[in-house]
Amino acid sequence: MNLITPNLFKLFPNSKEMAKTETYEIEKLLASCNLYKNKSKYIIELSKQLENNFNGTVPLNQKDLMSLSGVGQKTANVVMLESIGANLMAVDTHVFRVAHRLGLTNSKTPEKVERDLTTIFKKDLGKLHGAFVLFGRYFCTAKEPKCNNCILINECKYLN
Ligand code: SF4
Repeated sequence: MNLITPNLFKLFPNSKEMAKTETYEIEKLLASCNLYKNKSKYIIELSKQLENNFNGTVPLNQKDLMSLSGVGQKTANVVMLESIGANLMAVDTHVFRVAHRLGLTNSKTPEKVERDLTTIFKKDLGKLHGAFVLFGRYFCTAKEPKCNNCILINECKYLN
């Protein structure tokens, strides 16, 4: 997605322009993404909601963010921690996997994993989120994690 956004924002620099766009135009730009048809539809719906309900400005609280199409708790938290440095954990597939492998949670839903990690770590949750995402994406991968070189091997519940 990060490779796509420069072109997307060049063509449609704000929600006003995006809201006027046809879905197929967004689909062309997002074609290399998973679920690009859904994402394209949400981008246009969300842009209309931003125009109609928030004067074209992205709201920076969880409740308003989650009122937007396609935005769940994880995405709302990512927006807030990236834009205003909010002390929030956002649980994506990598954070979920790493937290379980390290024995930090047994919870079955992202929302409960978020609660568990927030309770344990309390501070610097945005930095922790970033570290877990990178660790899960490049090191503690879903298939063939690099356990032989992992400094956390003694804490890890995945192997022990
Ligand atoms: S030992 Fe393996 S499974 Fe455990 S945290 Fe490290 S890379 Fe992940």
